[in-house]
This record gives sequence, structure tokens and C-alpha cells, in this order.
Amino acid sequence: MPPSTSKPRVLSGVQPSGNLHIGNYLGALKNWVKIQYDFESIFCIVDLHAVSGKYEHESLAQRTREMAIGLLAAGIDPDSAILFVQSHVPEHSELQWLLNTVTPLGELERMTQFKDKAQRFESVPAGLLNYPVLMAADILLYRADLVPVGDDQIQHLELAREIARRWNAEFGRGEDFFPEPQPILTEAKRITGLDGQAKMSKSLGNTIGLLDSPETIWQKLRPAKTDPARVTRHDPGNPEVCNIYHLHKYFSPPETVVRVVDACRGAKWGCLDCKRELADNMIRTLTPIRERALSLQQDPGRVDQILGDGAATARRLAGETMREVRARMGFLAPMRD
Ligand code: SF4
Repeated sequence: MPPSTSKPRVLSGVQPSGNLHIGNYLGALKNWVKIQYDFESIFCIVDLHAVSGKYEHESLAQRTREMAIGLLAAGIDPDSAILFVQSHVPEHSELQWLLNTVTPLGELERMTQFKDKAQRFESVPAGLLNYPVLMAADILLYRADLVPVGDDQIQHLELAREIARRWNAEFGRGEDFFPEPQPILTEAKRITGLDGQAKMSKSLGNTIGLLDSPETIWQKLRPAKTDPARVTRHDPGNPEVCNIYHLHKYFSPPETVVRVVDACRGAKWGCLDCKRELADNMIRTLTPIRERALSLQQDPGRVDQILGDGAATARRLAGETMREVRARMGFLAPMRD
């Protein structure tokens, strides 16, 4: 169990999308691994969020465990951070219901993500509308000070702050019981997929998996898009328009990055040479992660134990908050709590 600390508390969630890819790793996860030592960190696999629209229920449990394995393999340390599955702490749903009572419908209807996603449904599920209230509950349940957010979640965090303000005004007894969570603004990293066009995304099939084997990594990198001006190896290229160059910046040493620019602009090597060097450096970085994941896959009991310990700690923290919330909202306390 992570030690309790006086550091600011951070809450972050990830959907159980199954195996992680390098876009997830570079875009968010690497930052989680770093911040877990700087803050009191609570990381939650948000399976309740994953069911707010259409989803594959047959694979949900498997994807949840795969996500946990990916997070642990990538460096989330259960001795430093609390890692658990959202549905294992029922207080998330309870607080969401209570927060619904102070959330204006109009605010939910004007959320950009709701408007985008609602268009895909003939009959819009209410869960899609209430998704940001659950997100507010996730954060406020642990009275988190900070939340790492991407651009697409800023509006939801603003709403969580608004909900905290409204609840405090109504039930706070003159106190800010719920702190207004602040964003941790991290450098926005938009990792482009191997098609060289769209953001790396599992649904677009343009990813390299965090746990891909060395052979698979090379098979995927070989045909990846490069600067179209490089028709033959004698044509000079512009690395700035090539995703392979940008991936070198994440996986290769600085001197290699400089050499890539020179060799590309001067047509001193072919794109396959450039990709081979990237593949070698990528494999070097990802191999320890893959090996840790393979070992955890052999030992699902250990993964479940870590998630169980994380949920027990989370439930203790959530229980403290909910006792106070129920009392302040006027509920009769049960005889035994
Ligand atoms: S040499 Fe490298 S950076 Fe230049 S276009 Fe080819 S793959 Fe891209």
C-alpha cells in the first residue's frame, strides 16, 4: 500500500481499452509514471465510463486486466501510487447520483464531447449525458487537488469545478469541503499514427502496441509513411514533414536525431535505413516494458492482488468522503458504518 503523504493529491483515469500503444505511452502514461513520485497519485481504470455508450461487454473484464498489466509494465508502481478499477469502489456511482442533484442539465447538454458523441446515436443513452458528472465524482470522491488533462477534457474539468462550487454552496456548511480541482497542464503530445496523417488510435489501426514484439514493430514500421518527396534514396527529404523523424525524437538519442536530419536532407541514406535505426531504438526502450508485461500475464493473481489492494485503499478514502457527504446532505446514518 502506498504511504499516506502530505503531497498534493492527483487523480487520473484511463478507459479499459485493452493493450496500450506508444501513443498512449508517450501522450499520457510516461507522465503518470513521472508524477507518481511527485504527488500522492490515484490512478483509476474507469470501466464505468467505458459503458456509457455502446461497448463490447464480452471483453470488458479482459480489457480491464490488460490495461492494468500495461500500466504496471510501463512503470506504475503500486508502492507509490494507488491503482484500482473504478467499479470496485461503488462510492463513485453513489457520489455521481448525489452530484446529479446540483448539476444543471443545460451545462451537460452543452458539453462538446456530448454533442459530438450524441450524433452517433438514434436514441441517446442518458449515461452519455451524465458522463461528466461521473468524472466529477471520480475527482471529488478523493478530494483531489490536481488532475492531468488533455485539451479534450478541460471542459469536463471546468464542470467538475462548477459542481464542487455548487455543492459547497448548498451543503458545505460555510466550508469548501470539496476543493476545486486544478488542471496539471502537461506539454500536449499528439502522436501521429503510422499512416502519417491521423492521431495514433487503435480504431484506425495505425499504432505500434506497447507490448508488440521486435518483429511486429519492424513489420509495422517498414511500410510507414515518410516524406513523399523521397521517391528514391537519392532524393533529399524534409524530416519535419515525416513522422519517422518525430518518433526518433522520442526514442533515439539526441545525436541520432541530429544525424537523421543531416542524412535525410542530404540524401545520405534511405528511408529504410532510417526506420531500421528507429526500430532498434524503439525496441530497446520497449523491451523491458514488454518483458514485465509478459511476466504479469503469467501471473494474473498478482495483478488482481495489486488491484484488490488499490481498491481497498481507495474504498477507505472514498468512505471517509462519503460519510461526510451523506451527513452534510442530511441522510440518516446507518447503525453500523
Ligand atoms: S530519411 Fe527518415 S526522416 Fe527522412 S523521409 Fe526518410 S524516414 Fe523520414
